[in-house]
Amino acid sequence: MATDCVFCKIVAGEIPTQFLYQDDEMVAFPDIHPLTPVHILIVPKKHIPSLLEMEQGEAPLIGRMALVAKRLAKEKGIAERGYRLVINSGPEGGQVVPHLHMHLLGGKKLK
Ligand code: 5GP
Ligand code: ZN
Repeated sequence: MATDCVFCKIVAGEIPTQFLYQDDEMVAFPDIHPLTPVHILIVPKKHIPSLLEMEQGEAPLIGRMALVAKRLAKEKGIAERGYRLVINSGPEGGQVVPHLHMHLLGGKKLK
């Protein structure tokens, strides 16, 4: 855990958050500033700062995050209409929170 990391604090339960999903390696919760009607963050419990710092052994985690996103998309009723998964990396990639996370975006037609 990185002590100054907002997502580590959410994972640790230090910031009250409604989890939509959790297992031994990740959690999912609504984005605080939703860009779309459905906007959920899928966040590994382990503090990996970004895709740039991901190690070989952590690569399958991304696949499992995508499967959790599918499950959440189904639960939210947007799976068949379609949705978007986004991982921002680094400042020019639009990453603001330096703890690896996947955005699940949907519920409206995306350009
Ligand atoms: P990034 O730009 O790093 O890919 O995305 C970070 C996302 O985290 C943003 O969409 C932002 O709204 C969201 N976020 C930042 N702080 C919090 C928080 O404390 N709680 C929740 N639920 N979302 C947050
Ligand atoms: Zn963290």
